[in-house]
Amino acid sequence: MLSSHPLASPPCKLGTHYHQTSLHQQLQSLRRGSFKGSSQCVKAPAVSAQAREGPSSISDEDRSYMRHALDLARRGLGHTHPNPAVGCVIVKEGKVVGEGYHPKAGMPHAEVYALRAASNSAQGATAYVTLEPCNHYGRTPPCSRALVDASVARVVIGAGDPNPLVASEGIATLRKAGIQVDLMDGHEQAQANDLNPEFMERMRAEALAAVRPQT
Ligand SMILES: [Zn+2]
Repeated sequence: MLSSHPLASPPCKLGTHYHQTSLHQQLQSLRRGSFKGSSQCVKAPAVSAQAREGPSSISDEDRSYMRHALDLARRGLGHTHPNPAVGCVIVKEGKVVGEGYHPKAGMPHAEVYALRAASNSAQGATAYVTLEPCNHYGRTPPCSRALVDASVARVVIGAGDPNPLVASEGIATLRKAGIQVDLMDGHEQAQANDLNPEFMERMRAEALAAVRPQT
């Protein structure tokens, strides 16, 4: 039964991203055979690293732009299956230079629309994305790569990837390219996590299926 699986515990109050990465740790523990249960609901390594850098780097301005990105994402709700609804806003020197949302599966992702609209202004800008940018080649090239190619300086992410098997890869790609990545917290993070409940659950379930022993 799914709910009896140690990885199937509900998200803790630290937030889905933290819990997701905790799941990632748990998966690693499972593979090493040293899993000790679901009490490891602690801050993720990436977040801990960020925490060590000091207080949250999320400003009220960041929250406001993230709320705008969430509003954009909501325009796609109900049309994006099997993809999540995602919104993106690109801001440079206090001005929105590009924005977009994922309208439908098979259509470009939110980041692609926003980067197209921003054009050269994306260079050195901050991108606000409601969900961790994808890092795989699907029907479209990975958005993490598009953000790197556009030379944005900073990416603020609303919610981390819910699949612990792929979690943080988008973030890793961005950071490897020297882009500052900040994870949203508080109310806006909760809204980003709650935006696509079916998608989030499905990704977690897929991850569970991937680690479940074959019988
Ligand atoms: Zn994408």
